[in-house]
Amino acid sequence: MSIAPQMDTVTDGAAGTVDRHATTRTFESTDPATGAVVGIFPVHDTDAVAETVNRARAAAQQWAELGFDGRRQRLNAYRGYLARRLHELADLVHRENGKPHADAILEITLAIDHLAWAAGHARKALGPRRVKTGLLAANHAAYLEYQPLGVVGVIGPWNYPVFTPVGSIAYALAAGNAVVFKPSEYTPAVGAWLAAAWRAAVPDAEDAVQVVTGDGSTGAALCRAGVGKIAFTGSAATGKKVMATCAETLTPVLMELGGKDAMIVDDDADVVAAADAAVWGAMSNAGQTCIGIERVYATSAVYDRFVAEVTAQVRKLRPGSDDEATYGPMTMPSQIDVVRRHVQDAATAGAQVITGGSDPDSSPGENYVAPTVLLDVPEDSLAVREETFGPTLTITRVRDAEEALERTNATSYGLAGSIFSGSSKKALDLARRMRSGMTSINSVLTFASVPALPFGGVGESGFGRIHGEDGLKEFTRSKSITRQRFALPGGNLTSFSRPANAADGLARVIGIVHGRHR
Ligand code: NDP
Repeated sequence: MSIAPQMDTVTDGAAGTVDRHATTRTFESTDPATGAVVGIFPVHDTDAVAETVNRARAAAQQWAELGFDGRRQRLNAYRGYLARRLHELADLVHRENGKPHADAILEITLAIDHLAWAAGHARKALGPRRVKTGLLAANHAAYLEYQPLGVVGVIGPWNYPVFTPVGSIAYALAAGNAVVFKPSEYTPAVGAWLAAAWRAAVPDAEDAVQVVTGDGSTGAALCRAGVGKIAFTGSAATGKKVMATCAETLTPVLMELGGKDAMIVDDDADVVAAADAAVWGAMSNAGQTCIGIERVYATSAVYDRFVAEVTAQVRKLRPGSDDEATYGPMTMPSQIDVVRRHVQDAATAGAQVITGGSDPDSSPGENYVAPTVLLDVPEDSLAVREETFGPTLTITRVRDAEEALERTNATSYGLAGSIFSGSSKKALDLARRMRSGMTSINSVLTFASVPALPFGGVGESGFGRIHGEDGLKEFTRSKSITRQRFALPGGNLTSFSRPANAADGLARVIGIVHGRHR
């Protein structure tokens, strides 16, 4: 199916954004389950990207001038539009990314909730406020506010083609920026749909959200287009390239990168619930989840029960693209080779493959990977060290929760993780010491559904935050202002006409106020 009829169902002339910059090169996006063409899109070159960013720059000024209330009203109209067309968008996500329709609904629901939160909290987080001046400027008033950056370039991946970019787009817009969004070349139709929906829902600020399509070269052009910031979500390898390109123009970057998240299952954990969460965290979305669980460290006390429960639950999974399927095909065909390489490497190193495997014969079909559970995987194997990004799970027996934490933290990544424990106190302590940006206790991925909680990683998982107040501030620069309320009777300290004894007087005051501290 071509993109045009799909777009017509969103809004009249909605294909405008992709057409008006048409370049000679185009590319197809296809359904990973069937190979059917979902849409044909232009590869926007450097000139087309620059033209789009220029238009966004003009829109950014008008958008900023709308103020918090004007923007909230329009962001609410956008979320209402998305909510009313949830199934239509979910169907497109299903066709272009491959995930089950129900999972697409979950993803879109999260995005809508974040839109609501960002719109509703921007004034409180970013609006002008007075701050205390302190001793040295007691005769002044001081003001702080967070101003938008202008145009934010959002570069997104294909695995959560709605939730992930909207995590940046919603917060950037609420903070007063316009956005130019470059979706992955595997999910351009979803990106174009989101922009078309914006134009339909917010016609008086239609250029505040625009989409450019293409491959990595289009993303690189966006990095060089003089935007106020690049919000990048993708792999660490591409993130490094994006940083290098942005360094040419000192364009700031937000890096939301990959992960190798672990779950710790402690002695007193609810083993059935932990297994259920681990299987969902590892296998849903065919394991193509940045915050997916790829490793489990279970203590000796629960290990056997946990493995038995995971094995039983995994056997019920059925990859496919029909309504009953539990997860879909791999969206990006080349990822299948990465997953098989990791599983093969583990097997060669002596791991026990209890379900699935690297053999293509164990695959439920072309483009699918069977749910694969690996035991006794050496800690230096690819399946433990590198992001696998497939429906795989390693389970390792450990002495206790401390050893589990040590192994969890022994990775260059640090995105998120999960802890199952019967003790809230112990779990909170472990969570604080887990080297990651986010941790869920007795569940998986929950932090992503709490809009007030910042989302982002450490180490090779990136830096900067989306979501929450930190996510709003990420798309602003602070502006500090002071105003003199009255002149100091003894003269101004920052003046060549200050009295000769002013510095001595100041030294005496500082001695009284600070000198008593030892
Ligand atoms: P990639 O890093 O391959 O691509 C991400 C985006 O960058 C795509 O839009 C891609 O375009 C674009 N791109 C590629 N090359 C360049 C370049 N030189 N300059 C600018 N942009 C470029 O990631 P994937 O799309 O494969 O996504 C999967 C990765 O994303 C995983 O590592 C996953 O963990 C991570 N991720 C992280 C999340 C987080 O919040 N931390 C959330 C979701 C995913 P194109 O596709 O057209 O090549």
